[in-house]
Amino acid sequence: MARIVQKYGGSSVADAASIKRVARRIARARQEGNDVVVVISAMGDATDELMDLALEVSPQPQPRELDMLLTTGERQSAALLAMALNDLGVPARSYTGSQAGVITTGLHGNARIIDITPGRVNKSLEAGNITIVAGFQGVSQDTKDVTTLGRGASDTTAVALAASLGAEYCEIYTDVDGVFTADPRIVPAAAPIPEITYEEMMEMAACGSKVLHLRCVEYARRENIPVHVRSSFDDKPGTWVTGHTDMKKGNEMEQAIITGVASDRGEAKITIVGVPDQIGKAARIFDVIAEAEINIDVIVQNASAATGRTDISFTLPMSDGKRAIDALKAGQDEIGFEKLLYDDQIGKLSVIGVGMRTHPGVTARFFDALAEQDINIDMISTSEIRISVVVEVDLLDRAVRAAHTAFGLDADGEAVVYAGTGR
Ligand code: ADP
Ligand code: ASP
Ligand code: MG
Repeated sequence: MARIVQKYGGSSVADAASIKRVARRIARARQEGNDVVVVISAMGDATDELMDLALEVSPQPQPRELDMLLTTGERQSAALLAMALNDLGVPARSYTGSQAGVITTGLHGNARIIDITPGRVNKSLEAGNITIVAGFQGVSQDTKDVTTLGRGASDTTAVALAASLGAEYCEIYTDVDGVFTADPRIVPAAAPIPEITYEEMMEMAACGSKVLHLRCVEYARRENIPVHVRSSFDDKPGTWVTGHTDMKKGNEMEQAIITGVASDRGEAKITIVGVPDQIGKAARIFDVIAEAEINIDVIVQNASAATGRTDISFTLPMSDGKRAIDALKAGQDEIGFEKLLYDDQIGKLSVIGVGMRTHPGVTARFFDALAEQDINIDMISTSEIRISVVVEVDLLDRAVRAAHTAFGLDADGEAVVYAGTGR
């Protein structure tokens, strides 16, 4: 029997009827002769709703208790799916992340998987069960408390399990037909991508394409697990994320310059005004941010004015905004800056593609497309295979569509979004 790991996202199990539909699909995979492990997300927007509830009760919930609360979403859907499968005559058992042996670090809300001890999962498979694992959660190695792995991290649970169980590949079932050249909710003309490399998918995920969780792709690359992203609403093949793609091995001429356009509304910008233009000041600022365990992204430092002071701006996840401001304020006297500005009305837009390594003029074409739409660029950052800009959030979607068209990515047909609220 082949071992396969299938992950179903929240929009694929939003209600009772969807759970039964997914159960029929899993039963089919079983009838085809596979040992099936299923990783399941919370129903629909359940995680967001639990989060809203927590914030109504407490403005700053304790991270440990928040994880206790949020993990119930996946526990619910896992148990319901097991019931639906058993009713179809297919034996199934559900397990929490902790029961399934997902061992993590202790950082609540953003724990990392250290190891998977799949003893119980293996036993359950050997007993002939479809084995359902609640996604996005584990247990801290040190404290034995329940942890969550970050928003969207059921994808990561699935790939980690696939690696530890020796599965040939991992299937990620979602509400679109795979990875597209842009988010189909923003760009109806987005084109499906049949194959994409881990490298490019990591950039897309890091730049806001939430179709796959970033750490899932990192894990898949490290363990060399092919990932098949596809719709749970039809039988079309989707996107294979692998170490190489046939298209790109061959004819360089055929290679698209840009593989996709990604956007992110989840970042904010902090500007530190009047930083003394002295050696070590920038280092101290980013020490303070690093000590608060905050990841920053785009950084810009203005040319020093005649005053001997400069402004430094950087972007960071909006959810870390308050902590960053508090940390910087605590260091204000020592660093000697004048004031802090905070702006969460920004959006980041990125064009990604290994093809840009060998094609000059990508930046010019990108910026021209934005200029034609009268869109001002606030910040810029680049890597070998990515160009990102920060723009006003209200202009973000228009900017994404303009870039998509400018790089010739528009498809003739319209991309289908089968379900979900995009929340
Ligand atoms: P799930 O609940 O299945 O985990 P998600 O909402 O996390 O689903 O991810 C699927 C969504 O990702 C799609 O509905 C789509 O709006 C969004 N998305 C963003 N960028 C892309 C992209 N490049 N290709 C496909 N979907 C994308
Ligand atoms: N339910 C979790 C979330 O909404 C995890 C996931 O769906 O991947 O973030
Ligand atoms: Mg997801």
